[in-house]
Amino acid sequence: MDYDAGDLKIEGNNYFVQYTKNFKAYDKITDNDKNKCFDFAYDMSYGNIGKQRNSRSGGSVHRTKGQIFINTFQGKMAEFALYRFLENKNIQVNAPDLRKHKLGIWDSFDFECQGKIISVKSTKKYGNLLLLETKDWNNNGEYIPNLGNGNSKYDYTVLVRFNPDGEMIMRDSGLLLQREDDIQSEIKRLLIETICNKDWEYDFPGFIYYSELVKMVRQKRIIPKGAKLNKNAKMDAENYYFQVGKMHSIIEMYTRDIKQETDDRFRFKRKCPMCGETLTLRQGYSWFWGCEGYKRGCRYNEQLEKYKANKI
Ligand SMILES: [Zn+2]
Repeated sequence: MDYDAGDLKIEGNNYFVQYTKNFKAYDKITDNDKNKCFDFAYDMSYGNIGKQRNSRSGGSVHRTKGQIFINTFQGKMAEFALYRFLENKNIQVNAPDLRKHKLGIWDSFDFECQGKIISVKSTKKYGNLLLLETKDWNNNGEYIPNLGNGNSKYDYTVLVRFNPDGEMIMRDSGLLLQREDDIQSEIKRLLIETICNKDWEYDFPGFIYYSELVKMVRQKRIIPKGAKLNKNAKMDAENYYFQVGKMHSIIEMYTRDIKQETDDRFRFKRKCPMCGETLTLRQGYSWFWGCEGYKRGCRYNEQLEKYKANKI
């Protein structure tokens, strides 16, 4: 069943989120992954390697090196977070792309898994909206900047939330909106101290399917430029929104609601960690994951995670 973005409460120019999920850390980024993301983000911003666009489409704000850095850092960490999540569930997936010559659009983070394209979006821990700039999407729910390269339709759009808030740290350190002339010669050391040496925890508030993204576009689920969000942030561009409390739970990427008989969505295939055969859901006294290799003697099985569908 397709979910929809949910109505916001609107009072004049103020927009209020109605469907939320509390942040509950799933894990933190490992030092190894974090360092890779840091080097990538540094090279793509201060290092001037790779091609980055420095203004958001539709946004009037020129992006500084500080903004490009922190957005790239967080976006890449979000990819690693999801990659590790899938890997941990024995779902075969390629590692995130760290090539810097790739004609990168700094806010586009996507990868392929079992023939499906996953777009990963990140936000702060108290973020309760998936936001997509309206100028970037056509009426078929295709990502316009990628129209020529075959990666414009995302089977899944996944949201990852981070604690702490990278933009706020950058702002408080005077690094976010810094002019190029003012950038310190020891900027890399400063960023390592203020950003890279922190623990970055994350959660997965949910995801939406392609059909739901199309629905969001066609239903014009829009927050206009200049609107105030929860009496706080001012929108710097017009965005489509999907409320976090209306998104699919992350485990629906590979497991299904066993109570729902007609649940034929595509799920990622899991592999047995012992023999490499496919894991399938089976029913004994209760439901469990069993290995297809049982006829050849593999006895691997595991308990089914508690399935929590969103309340709609
Ligand atoms: Zn097995």
